[in-house]
Amino acid sequence: MQFNHDNMIGVRLAEELVNLEVEGRWTRDRVAGALTASLVRLDGLEQELGELRDWTGRLREVFAAAESDERCARINELLDVGVHRVHLSAHDGLPPHLHFVRDDQRLTERVQAMTIGGLAIFAVEAQAGRMGICARPGCGRAFADTSRNGRRAYCSPLCGNSHAVQRYRARTSTTVAGETGAAEVFPRGPLEAAPLHA
Ligand SMILES: [Zn+2]
Ligand SMILES: [Zn+2]
Repeated sequence: MQFNHDNMIGVRLAEELVNLEVEGRWTRDRVAGALTASLVRLDGLEQELGELRDWTGRLREVFAAAESDERCARINELLDVGVHRVHLSAHDGLPPHLHFVRDDQRLTERVQAMTIGGLAIFAVEAQAGRMGICARPGCGRAFADTSRNGRRAYCSPLCGNSHAVQRYRARTSTTVAGETGAAEVFPRGPLEAAPLHA
């Protein structure tokens, strides 16, 4: 599956802002780093940090939605707030793609347009799936899944592996030693063991 590259910038920014917040790393400098990496101008950042954080909380609900109708409803609410203009562009020799940001908008408005515009396009391409919150208890990080099979359940391979270890330990501590073998505990790969929306 091919995902529209230009709109993935907005999806990745949404993911990164949500994860800064979830990890308790929401500082001016880290937010600035995420915005700069996504080619967003920083003017207004000091005054608008709180506003950006409120928006980030709403973006998390898009990733956390339990099924696709709910996810579409969350996206529609945010599209009403965040997107005021849609414009086709074919700059730099790229194929025509949608732009949502106007240059004269405030920082928060630009981030709103870019993130929810990108997530809406992604939802079209991914049929409102391929988004979620990491399945490892206690993690809470959001992810957009552009993998081949689209069955990611974790924010990272690290979380997938440590959750597999946690489950293995939980299981072996409740069974008589020697009764279960590791092969039985990992019937499929650790990344495939839990569905995206269990
Ligand atoms: Zn573009
Ligand atoms: Zn995780």
